[in-house]
Amino acid sequence: MSNITPRSTVRAFQCACGASFEITTYSTVNVTLEPELLYRLLAGTLNVAVCANCGRKAASAQPFIYHDMARGLFAYVHPDANLPEDEREELLEHLRDVYDQAVAESERLEQPSAGGRHNSVEPRIRRRLPYDDALKRISPDAPPMQVIFGMEDLMALVESLLDPEEKLGRVVLSTQASGARERTRLASVATRLAEQAHCLIEIEDLPAEYTVIIYGSRARIRQLNTALKLIGQR
Ligand SMILES: [Zn+2]
Repeated sequence: MSNITPRSTVRAFQCACGASFEITTYSTVNVTLEPELLYRLLAGTLNVAVCANCGRKAASAQPFIYHDMARGLFAYVHPDANLPEDEREELLEHLRDVYDQAVAESERLEQPSAGGRHNSVEPRIRRRLPYDDALKRISPDAPPMQVIFGMEDLMALVESLLDPEEKLGRVVLSTQASGARERTRLASVATRLAEQAHCLIEIEDLPAEYTVIIYGSRARIRQLNTALKLIGQR
């Protein structure tokens, strides 16, 4: 069963351990519209399904668009850093075709309309701007599109654009209690805290230990730590 939305796809996934769960794969990652995706990327959980039953990870091999409007980063990302040279060439060729089509489309919009008045649609793509395989400028206002191979390269680039307080922070809560009640209680407390602080959680439910990782910006995690201390004092 699958459910398709413009930016992401949700589908059922069966882990090798037998557990089944839903995974969300993003084809467009716009961190300006969905800031939590920035922290999924930095935590290594963007387009990665983590099995809550055994901890196994399954990464999506699907390319995606990464867009950070505020920091001026617009990239086409292929998750495979070791893509063979011929496949890279083929991909760049395809992107060039897509780009040319977009330019042609934009130039059609630029033509005066039949009524003799100029079309009021502002052309967004201009052919005259220079571009090459790796760097394409789509409009004077938009940042150039970069082509990135490998999640690690994307992570390093994104990290370099962040202020110290915006970088990834995390809090790890865990219990060695094997009872379901204790574990459920920890999960619900962590979920509530994470929601209040606009952070995300990742759960590792292993027989020996139950771990909840809360992650988000360092600034948010600091707020959360303060809240945890207050709970501890009560
Ligand atoms: Zn599993």
